[in-house]
Amino acid sequence: MNNLILTDRSRIEADQQCHMERYWLTEYAGRGIVPSAPALPLLLGTIIHHGLQHMRSDHPWEHVIKDLDEELATLSLLWGPDQELMAEGLVKAFHKRVLPMLLHDYDIVAIEQELDFEAGGVIFQCRPDLLVRDKRDGSLIYPDFKTFTKWDDRQWDCSLQQHLTMKACEQATGEPVRACLIQGLSKGYKGKGGVLHHPLVYFYQCTSGQYVTRKVAGSKKLCVTDYPGGMDRWVQDISGDVIAKMFPRSQPIFPSEFMQGRAFDDLLKREQEIAAARRKPAKLQHLLFSTQTKNCLRYGGYKCNYFDLCRKAEHQTAPLDHGYKWREPHHALEQQMTQEKE
Ligand code: SF4
Repeated sequence: MNNLILTDRSRIEADQQCHMERYWLTEYAGRGIVPSAPALPLLLGTIIHHGLQHMRSDHPWEHVIKDLDEELATLSLLWGPDQELMAEGLVKAFHKRVLPMLLHDYDIVAIEQELDFEAGGVIFQCRPDLLVRDKRDGSLIYPDFKTFTKWDDRQWDCSLQQHLTMKACEQATGEPVRACLIQGLSKGYKGKGGVLHHPLVYFYQCTSGQYVTRKVAGSKKLCVTDYPGGMDRWVQDISGDVIAKMFPRSQPIFPSEFMQGRAFDDLLKREQEIAAARRKPAKLQHLLFSTQTKNCLRYGGYKCNYFDLCRKAEHQTAPLDHGYKWREPHHALEQQMTQEKE
């Protein structure tokens, strides 16, 4: 069991950003390390995924937020109350305004279900956000949730994650998956003075008394909690146009022969290379992972999770004393293998 080569989306994406990032994430000391305080995009993504997990259950959506209390409090503590309000608003608005539209066209088949498949000695661990069946023609569709600052739905055409997951869904169900759809969730943007511009955090009140979400002459900026009825009412009253901009859905991404063929084969080779590096003496392993410094700073000015670690020798000697913790496996198979090792 422990000789299996396991991979998943986060380690593939880390490797594609920078081989050294992959080393820190999964290879360092045979376990991998992650920042002790999660970065904003990661924490936000986790909260939203947890909120969306309750989509089909009988759990009333009002209670969903209660279940997220702890994560929302961490978000507020680390990144400020605006971010907490935005995450809460996105989950509420999705449940109240977007989910009914989705359920009009699709039946839910699975939510965040573990689907593993093996190819060339490598096991791919996948957990699609959602798998749905189109009510119109019965075909399977894989919707994938993505938070975004600037929407560009063409970027997903060449993203291996969607093609890998479609492959995993096909293997698990024995049915072809017709397409993947990206369901966007807007994170807004930071304006002057670091104020978060997001229609679920601040809105503008016209002098006429009408509530609109863009700045107009004579408007006054108000937090959504000041709206009569607060956030719960605001997500119901906000216009459909604003909802559409906050929750855009991509064109269908159809399975691609290139992405699931040549690009997938290259991925297999890379995972086999990393498995071979794992068998080298521990002291030498990091030398087998190259750096891609153009990715040290990411979109929006975010630093790579390992920015200081790559640069400071004292951090490398004792990363657990410098803001890192051991990585916890997220998939069932890897959890089982880790327990066996211990
Ligand atoms: S800081 Fe730069 S070199 Fe280091 S892991 Fe991140 S992207 Fe790679």
